[in-house]
Amino acid sequence: MHDCEAPARLTDGFRRFRRRYYEDESSLFHDLVHNGQSPRVMMIACSDSRVTPSLVFDTGPGELFVVRNVANLVPPAEFDDHRHGTSAALEFAVERLKVAHIIVQGHSRCGGIQSLLEGIGGQYTRPWLTIAARARAEVLAQHPQADPKDQAHALGQASILVSLENLLSFDNVRRAVVRGELTLHGWYFDLEAGRMLRYEGTSQRFENLA
Ligand SMILES: [Zn+2]
Repeated sequence: MHDCEAPARLTDGFRRFRRRYYEDESSLFHDLVHNGQSPRVMMIACSDSRVTPSLVFDTGPGELFVVRNVANLVPPAEFDDHRHGTSAALEFAVERLKVAHIIVQGHSRCGGIQSLLEGIGGQYTRPWLTIAARARAEVLAQHPQADPKDQAHALGQASILVSLENLLSFDNVRRAVVRGELTLHGWYFDLEAGRMLRYEGTSQRFENLA
């Protein structure tokens, strides 16, 4: 059946947005339009409709530079003429906006991670998910008998570490990190528990974000 309510809901939503930001807080958008954006944080998040970064982190316009894709993956630097959407956003964030932080934001119950775990996917999804194939092999080797839900948790977190490693394969990212101008983070949103976990380099574990 044709769903004509969804666009109407968005139209109403835009009216509320306009009231909020163009009437009550007009100065904020005036500033963002005339002076441009200068977000300090780039977030690489999943396309999943439940993990919208501005909602989860309660941020306003101009605060987060976000790229979302299936399973919040960062591919390695690749020197060809293919169309690399995530890498292009990364380049813009680092070279133009000079963000100080990049957060790879994963989450539990991820359809992309589940597809990777099961080895399924379509024409574009399957090759995309192979970015984290190494994480899958590691998780299946370390937890061969584990409950699939626990394997998915482990894979969601392990794939974040692959993306953090891949970030360093981009020259501009690596140089900014070495200069101390950029910090990389791996975070994981546990949907069931309503908890945010953060990867800690010292313990090499994902720990509760206070
Ligand atoms: Zn997801």
